[in-house]
Amino acid sequence: MREILTLGRYFKKVFGQRVRKIPVSLQGFTCPNIDGRVARGGCIYCCNESFSPSLIKINPLATRIKMHTDLKENPILDMQVKQLKEQFIWHSDFHKEKFEIQKYMIYLQSYSNTYAPFATLKTLFDEALALPNVVGMSIGTRIDCVSEDILDLLEGYVRAGKEIWLEYGIQSVFPKTLELINRGHGIDGAQDLFAKTRKRGIKVCAHLIYGLPQESEEMMLESLRAVVGWGVDGLKLHPLYVVRNTALAKMFKNGEYTPISLESYANLIVRSLQEIPQDVVMHRMSSGAHDEMLLAPKWCFDKNIQMRYIRERLREVGLEY
Ligand code: SF4
Repeated sequence: MREILTLGRYFKKVFGQRVRKIPVSLQGFTCPNIDGRVARGGCIYCCNESFSPSLIKINPLATRIKMHTDLKENPILDMQVKQLKEQFIWHSDFHKEKFEIQKYMIYLQSYSNTYAPFATLKTLFDEALALPNVVGMSIGTRIDCVSEDILDLLEGYVRAGKEIWLEYGIQSVFPKTLELINRGHGIDGAQDLFAKTRKRGIKVCAHLIYGLPQESEEMMLESLRAVVGWGVDGLKLHPLYVVRNTALAKMFKNGEYTPISLESYANLIVRSLQEIPQDVVMHRMSSGAHDEMLLAPKWCFDKNIQMRYIRERLREVGLEY
């Protein structure tokens, strides 16, 4: 049986102990695919609240101020720093008490977390990395939201001994699919960006979605092979699921979209893990929404059932997740 290099195993290898990712969602952050700078409405499946339960609404001012790269002043920066600290303390205390976890990675998860004025990003990243027992940071973003300045900033943290990951949402390498899901960017430049990021010692995690509309299993595997070929340190694979109040929900209700089955998804995961190089860290390969927002597929309601089934399929081919 070969053990897959999960994020947990990787952290243990690198830090000699368990490290927990602490998800942080800061108010005011958005995405150029939502605010109109690239497109409006976002990706057809996007409903950020369903991905980020800790997005807490504290201050009405923050619902009006939205981050973007050219924002001259950020009047909610102090509030964002406060949110960052509060969310970190809440989660880290919980994991310390319940699981005796001593080290943490900050995970900036919701929306595009490099889409803000440089000074705001620097303040927030500095604050995040100065929190007690924080060994690094993982930042979720888009390939059109990362500048040389940001890479330089992150490289500085790497040089200071922190572990920095950029998590790039790729989803598919097929331009037709990216257009269909209203991704707001193509795929040109992604390979170069991965190389530039890794050259600085910043680790790259590529996100791919299986089950996008009008994609065959072979297309999904082709996307995987492409990003692996570009060079990645980690991968996050997940099934597409439909949540209420999204464009995808409309397509689903009109019969224009059929969600992927658990059997097909598990088969894809088995085939993917047989191909992915053994030193690539598997950040995640399950996903779901544990609430009434989820429309379909129903198997995405319970990640434990999902993972149990996938683990069994993997064991059949000698892989231990
Ligand atoms: S890139 Fe992310 S945050 Fe932006 S619209 Fe797509 S899913 Fe939503």
